[in-house]
Order: sequence, then structure tokens, then C-alpha cells
Amino acid sequence: MILARTFRLAALAGAFACLYDGAAADTTMALKAARLFDGKSRTLMQNGVVLVQGDKIVDAGAGLPIPAGAQVIDLGDATLSPGFMDAHTHVTLDYSGNYNERRLRDLSKNVSEIALECIPNARATIEAGFTTVRDLGSRITNSHDFLDVSVRNAIEHGIVTGPRMIVATHGIGATGGHFDPTSGYRDMALGREPDWTDGIGNGPDEIRKAVRHEVKNGADVIKAAVSGGVLSLADEVDTPQFTPAEVAALVDETHRLRKKVAVHCHGDQAAREAIEAGVDSIEHGSFLKPETLALMKNKGTYLVPTLLATEYIMGKIDAYPPVLAAKARAAAAARSDMFRNAVKIGVKIGFGTDSAVFPHGQNAKEFALMVGLGMAPLDALRSATAADAELLGVLAKTGTLEKGKLADVIAMPGDPTSDITATERVAFVTKNGKIVKNGSTPAAPAANAGTTRETAAEAAALDL
Ligand SMILES: [Zn+2]
Repeated sequence: MILARTFRLAALAGAFACLYDGAAADTTMALKAARLFDGKSRTLMQNGVVLVQGDKIVDAGAGLPIPAGAQVIDLGDATLSPGFMDAHTHVTLDYSGNYNERRLRDLSKNVSEIALECIPNARATIEAGFTTVRDLGSRITNSHDFLDVSVRNAIEHGIVTGPRMIVATHGIGATGGHFDPTSGYRDMALGREPDWTDGIGNGPDEIRKAVRHEVKNGADVIKAAVSGGVLSLADEVDTPQFTPAEVAALVDETHRLRKKVAVHCHGDQAAREAIEAGVDSIEHGSFLKPETLALMKNKGTYLVPTLLATEYIMGKIDAYPPVLAAKARAAAAARSDMFRNAVKIGVKIGFGTDSAVFPHGQNAKEFALMVGLGMAPLDALRSATAADAELLGVLAKTGTLEKGKLADVIAMPGDPTSDITATERVAFVTKNGKIVKNGSTPAAPAANAGTTRETAAEAAALDL
């Protein structure tokens, strides 16, 4: 509240009317707040200042002098931070309603209708302070549309307000595996067996074809399901779904094309094989044993734990079909010890939520879950800034408040190291030096208004 009031007073002073559009290229915008988190340090700075010109940060630090003629935004008792990142979202998806309604809806809506529904999802995400997301899968059943590429481009072109997106297109998996969109339907009910053009491949050569097809169509990162998932209908939660030769082909082909590989993986054996093959991140990781986490530490593999998705699903567990509920309970029971072990062992931990399993814009609730399971607040903040920037391959241009970086700057009220839930009340957001949010609390996104997720099984087509 203090933050919002301070900013409104500044705006009322009349000098800052143009600031809502960001600083002009030749004008310096000075953001001030009681504290500053630079994205990488182990302490907060007092009397934080970030100086912005055009789309770039020209300086950031404690108590910097304000250049003459600068337009000053004093955010008061708040903490400045690099824009948050979420390394695991699905901005193009929103699984409202119960499981069977969702499956029917997937087959009923036009792709264009689904595309329009992404607009409030993207806005809710950036208004929550997430200026960059890695969007890990956007499959629409029996469609080859690359919807995440379209949304990414619409945001880049300023048509839609949203975070910078690094997209994975369809996601690659095995026949009958977690990503097979026809699993659970009668054979041929959807007309044909999915193939590499849908991201479904078997054998190293088909996996390579799938990678090439996705990169050809705009994938920035490759996603694959190397183990079963909680809520898919035809697989065990933790069985390996790729052979070592397949996962080796996945990693080799992707790295040749200078992309990174993120793998959905709950099971320990599948994770071990994927880590040995050189994947860049393990998503979820529910059943990973300490030895496997130690292997990740040695190889520098990131863990993206998506605690919030599990938390949300467990809140609705009784609504699941029994077979799926059993898988969800098993994964949820394992993941807290796994996360604590990962922190203790010192595995690199990226911030990722699986947004779309829960309503978009609630991503920051992940912070409190990480801290609740033993992560230091500053380490949780670093996971969503410099650590994710390294994982996403964008650290050279964003992820910290430093001279020369893109001006993705947010502010949250108070001190997040004494109350981590401050991250859930981001009140000020700039992306590329343009102000996206200026102090008001975000309203619930329109797409979610009046709807709640009746069951957790709605997440079945995701990679949870
Ligand atoms: Zn996911």
C-alpha cells in the first residue's frame, strides 16, 4: 500500500505524466526504493537506485546520485529487483473445469479462440512481476499450430502485453508416453497415430527429426518427457520413456542446434540417464534420490522443482480419478524430501511453477514454498533472477540489475528477506524500460474470472 501511495503521489506532482510510457531514449528515469536486490548478491542494498535510459539500465546500486533532469520515481518502503523469471510455464494453456470437460474442450475450440484466451494469461504473468518466462510446451490435440511462437512474437511486436517468452513448441515424447495426446482415447479415435511432426517419436532418428522440426518452426528450447507423469492416462509416473540412445540423440541434436534441453522427469532412473546424457534441466524431479541429485550437482544440471503445481493439485486431490490420484499422492509425498536434499547438496535450482496447472499470475507463490522447504529467501530470489537467466541462456542481457542490462525492473513492498510473500505483491513493473504496472494490485485475469479448477486432473495434458 505504501508503495502504491508513494508512486501515486509522485504521479500527482504532475512532472511524471510521460513515465507511464517509460523513459525516452535521451531521458534518464531514476527508480528509487528503500532496498535493492541486484539478482546475484547475497545481501540487499539499502537506498537502492536504478537509472534507466531507453530500454537499458545505465547504473544500479546503493545511494547513487540522481543525474540532473532525471525523472524520479520514488517507490518508498519497497525493494527493487530484476524482473522475475519463471522457467516453466504454459502461457497458452489454461486448464479450467474438470478433467473430462477439459479434454472435450481441447477438441472443440478453434486454435484462434485458444489464442485469444492467451492474452489475459500473458498480462497476468507480467503484472505479477514475471518479465521473462520459459514456456515449456504448447500442444493442441491434432493441430500442428505453433501457438506459443505466435504469442511470443505478438508480445515482441507490442501487440500483446506480456513477458519475454522462450518457447518449446510441442514437446517431444514417446508413443504412449506422457506427451502422447491420444493416450486414453480408443485407438484411432482421433484419426491417426501421432508422429514426429506432433513431437512423438521412437528411436534416435525420429527424436532427431522431431527436434529439427520444432526448431524449424520456431522453438527456442527443446522440451521432452523422459519419464511418465502424474496425470497422464497410459503411463506409470516414474518409468523411463526414452532409451539411453534416444535421450543421447535428443541432447546431441538439440545442442548441435545451440538450443538447451529441458526434460519433464519424475522418475529416478530416467533422470540419471538424462543427466548423464547432458540435459540442461530436470523439471519436477519428484523421486530423485540423493545420489542422482549429487550427479546433477557435479554436472551442473539445473533442477526446476515446480512445487506450486503439486501444491495446487494436492488441494483438489479428492477430485481425481483414483488411478491418477494415487500417482499424484506418491509424487507429492516424495518431492519435499527431494527438494530439501537438493538444497542441502547444493544442486542449481531454477525457479519454475508449471503455471497453467493453476491460474496464471500466481507464479510468485512458489517462493514461499521454496523457503518453507529450507531454501534461504535470497537464494529463492536468485533462482528467479540470475539463476533462471543462466538456465535460459539470457544472463548477458537480463536477470540482474547491472549497467548495460535490459531495464526489466520490478518493486515489491517491504523486505522480501523478512517476508518472502512480498514477492506476491509486486506493485511496479518495467520491461525493456517501459512501465507495465505502476502500483495497483492486479485484478484476477478475465479468463479465470468465475471459474475455479474443479479438479486437479485438468493438468493431465501438461507435463506434471
Ligand atoms: Zn509443465
